Amino acid sequence: DHLLAAEADELDRAAEAALRPRRLDEFIGQPVVRDQLSLVLDAANARSKPPDHVLLAGPPGLGKTTLAMIIAGEVGGSLKITSGPAVQHAGDLAAILSSVQEQDVLFIDEIHRLARPAEEMLYLAMEDFRVDVVVGKGPGATAIPLTLPPFTVVGATTRSGLLPAPLRDRFGFTAHMDFYSEAELELVLTRSARLLGAELQPEAATQIASRARGTPRIANRLLRRVQDWAQVRGTGALDLDAAMAALDVFEVDRRGLDRLDRAVLRALCERFGGGPTGLTTVAVAVGEEPETVETVAEPFLVREGLMVRTPRGRVATAAAFSHLGLTPPTSPGM
Ligand code: ADP
Repeated sequence: DHLLAAEADELDRAAEAALRPRRLDEFIGQPVVRDQLSLVLDAANARSKPPDHVLLAGPPGLGKTTLAMIIAGEVGGSLKITSGPAVQHAGDLAAILSSVQEQDVLFIDEIHRLARPAEEMLYLAMEDFRVDVVVGKGPGATAIPLTLPPFTVVGATTRSGLLPAPLRDRFGFTAHMDFYSEAELELVLTRSARLLGAELQPEAATQIASRARGTPRIANRLLRRVQDWAQVRGTGALDLDAAMAALDVFEVDRRGLDRLDRAVLRALCERFGGGPTGLTTVAVAVGEEPETVETVAEPFLVREGLMVRTPRGRVATAAAFSHLGLTPPTSPGM
């Protein structure tokens, strides 16, 4: 049911490992970010020092973990991975930091979700390469300062604005990742197919790319479903027939909307004349929890200009009516 979710699940993690670009020059798209990173990496290399800490900001599935791996590879260190929610106590972070070796890259996903004490420990580690390890409990507790070898923190966050300013300031720079163009996604898909030992026909690549929501993770996931179809019901070839049929089976339409997305739009357009309609009313109409509608369906509908959130409720745009093959009302809500 999560074919179009940008977050990774367990199956993705297994499948994705083989598809990650290992070097910056294999990384497709994001020309600005690639240029910034290559400058920082080259400068660090010239000074024989680890690169500055880097903050990667952008939606899930766009390649933040991949870039952290690439940075570690380029500086010749190993990559340690953790995440804001995984670090419950400052002690958890102290344990990770004290295992860091020179040139290592510490990737902290969802860094905006670090607990406050861990965040403060991280400031010190990033700025002074130092961590205070607390030994004992209560009044007898003592902090033993530990010097850390030079290393690099790569933080990832969905929005850099979520980060407290003092933490944001400890990063040498923030790389803002954008959604990929369809042409870039076609390159991602063609490369992935090749790594999977198959050849993706250009028309099939175009179809998958146009429905992948600007997100390589989703593109790769759709490719796996097309491959399933080709193998089980088709000729084995990743051609247009296989792409169209597989996308049809999984109810992904030509704009990358799934069943819930369309149900939401249909309810708004057909039952409520385009809105404005309250979230709860829309959710009841499609038989979902309001939270699901709000977090799963709405962000993409809004991004695509198919729906607008107004203080009076949700409104379907003219583009939504036309996407569903309906005629917008003559005196629309907007
Ligand atoms: P994030 O950490 O931002 O959620 P990942 O780095 O885990 O995203 O990337 C998700 C998947 O998309 C991986 O399988 C990766 O190989 C692929 N991918 C992401 N960006 C690119 C890119 N620029 N070129 C090729 N594949 C990419």
